[in-house]
Amino acid sequence: MFNDPAPLLLDGRLTEAAAAFTTLNPATGQVLGHAADGTAADMDAAVAAARRAFDETGWSTDVAFRARCLRQLRDALRRHADELRELTIAEAGAPRFLTFGAHLDAPVADLGWFADLAESYAWTTDLGRAEPMGMPSDRRIVREPVGVVGAITPWNFPHQINLAKVGPALAAGNTVVLKPAPDTPWCAAALGVLAARETDLPPGVLNVVTSSDHGLGAQLAQDPRVDLVSFTGSTATGRKVMQAAARDLKRVFLELGGKSAFIVLDDADLRAACSYAAFAGVTHAGQGCAITTRILVPRERYDEAVRILAKTLGKLGPGDPQDDSTICGPVISARQRDRIEGYLKLALEEGGSFAVGGGRPKDRDKGFWIEPTLITGLDPRSRTAREEIFGPVLVVLPHDGDDDAVRIANDSPYGLSGAVHGSPERARAVAARLRTGTVSVNGGVWYGADVPFGGYKQSGIGREMGVAGFEEYLETKAIAEGVT
Ligand code: NAD
Repeated sequence: MFNDPAPLLLDGRLTEAAAAFTTLNPATGQVLGHAADGTAADMDAAVAAARRAFDETGWSTDVAFRARCLRQLRDALRRHADELRELTIAEAGAPRFLTFGAHLDAPVADLGWFADLAESYAWTTDLGRAEPMGMPSDRRIVREPVGVVGAITPWNFPHQINLAKVGPALAAGNTVVLKPAPDTPWCAAALGVLAARETDLPPGVLNVVTSSDHGLGAQLAQDPRVDLVSFTGSTATGRKVMQAAARDLKRVFLELGGKSAFIVLDDADLRAACSYAAFAGVTHAGQGCAITTRILVPRERYDEAVRILAKTLGKLGPGDPQDDSTICGPVISARQRDRIEGYLKLALEEGGSFAVGGGRPKDRDKGFWIEPTLITGLDPRSRTAREEIFGPVLVVLPHDGDDDAVRIANDSPYGLSGAVHGSPERARAVAARLRTGTVSVNGGVWYGADVPFGGYKQSGIGREMGVAGFEEYLETKAIAEGVT
């Protein structure tokens, strides 16, 4: 798809940067290859191109053309799906089975949903005639793109997050500068290469700037020519993005961290619920912001729940992400592995113990790995039980009934997601009380192009996906015509 090093996409041209940086395979720790190491000057050129394409071309007003380009991009990604699948497994450590869903195929298909939405969307709403202050006026509301979007993304689900920003932002008529995480530059570069080679996207409409330098994200968030920053990443970085954007009062859209609760009620099938919680908790080595990592179980069945969780986790790997049966692959980097190990140490200091796991697997001396781990005996207010670990590490806590479970679940600075298992009526009632942007009840799957995703509290501002996600990228203009 591209030669090593992977290029930048600047103003419609695939461009080699002056320098390149390495991208690693987290399963082996080996160098996969190189990507263009974009500089501040490259970012400056990307923003200038996006500004010009928005201000000086018909992109922002030609809905039919935009829908066509998005479908071309979807079809190009599909044509190269086999290559992209291998690249995603190698670069992100994505378990192969997930590339048939949220790691690749699903977000690619979602581009078509956004193209359809752009075509069917009510861009203009007629409010009819009114006589405010006795002055007859015909009023209408027009929705317009915001302008230049700076999209800053993390490494954990690179295609899903890149496309969940690029798709709706372009469908809405914006132009985009995409700045991916330094750990997964190839996934983003592939998008740029296919956009340039296999679509009619005009120069400047989509720019991709890979870099080893996080400072380029800060530069993008600060640039006065950018109208909206769409950021996914940690809450700490999200705070910095908001501060940087504050100077020009540009709009921000933030998808941040989480420490979501999986609540098992006392009338749930404990075995089924705990087995599912274990599976969901360590999928992709727990590197998903909405993964439920606090398992709340009835106090009187705590020991039984621990046994089921530990037994299931013990069978879940970790394994080679290339294998069809792998659920839990490697963690993304040595830095991330060390961060997780820091939390494992903290868990012991806070009085916890490991029912299973607790460190690196003995049989893997290359790459970056952590065993699926279950921590018992922690206070719900301990740091390990409250802070995002972003690894295959679950904390199991006892609750004393539905009210107590809701209290513990909501006693968090985060509010991204949650899950409840129990009899439908009670599970629904508990779900209604959770202060989170998404909730799964009895195994329901909320992920989909038409479902808005995002967080309450410090898990973010705004929604991605769905009509709400599309409208994040729109301005609202009210027009009133005087009637003579
Ligand atoms: P991160 O915050 O370190 O980095 C995310 C992106 O921000 C990267 O592209 C990085 O280069 C860039 N960046 C770093 N410093 C910046 C700055 N000062 N200004 C602007 N951009 C900057 O996050 P990460 O380690 O790549 O990803 C893991 C985190 O992302 C976890 O906390 C996880 O919960 C969160 N996440 C959230 C969601 C969600 O939708 N809520 C989805 C995936 C990941």
